[in-house]
Amino acid sequence: MTQQLNWTDVFTNENEAVEAFKNFRTKKGIVCKKCNETKHYWLAGKKQFQCSACRFRTTLRSGTLLEGSKLPISYFFIAWSLLIKNENQVTLEEFQLQTKHKYYEPLWEYLHKVKTHFKHEDAAKMAGEFVEITQTFPLYKPLNN
Ligand SMILES: [Zn+2]
Repeated sequence: MTQQLNWTDVFTNENEAVEAFKNFRTKKGIVCKKCNETKHYWLAGKKQFQCSACRFRTTLRSGTLLEGSKLPISYFFIAWSLLIKNENQVTLEEFQLQTKHKYYEPLWEYLHKVKTHFKHEDAAKMAGEFVEITQTFPLYKPLNN
């Protein structure tokens, strides 16, 4: 029997979220800031990408919407799944409820960044990409599978 999981339950695990965010970045392509090379290796221990040409390292959040944020990467997937579920409408209250984060202020900024990132995406594309990026995870079981 396949257990059905709520998407937001899956991504309270930060290690899985890091893996998923790595996939998210890899899919979009990483460009070395130093030499413009696009081929990178993943340094699992450091959770950084390393340029295959000049060995320059790119952190997971660098150059993304999460650059500078100290909040967990899992929140990105929580926000993303809520946006899909609610057709691009997510209130700060719901985001706070799902993340169980204590403080309002950093959450507001985080959610705003995620909303801005997905502003021009259509719901079907967002859902498809979400599944594609997260389907390799042991915790994730697509519904109806
Ligand atoms: Zn490079």
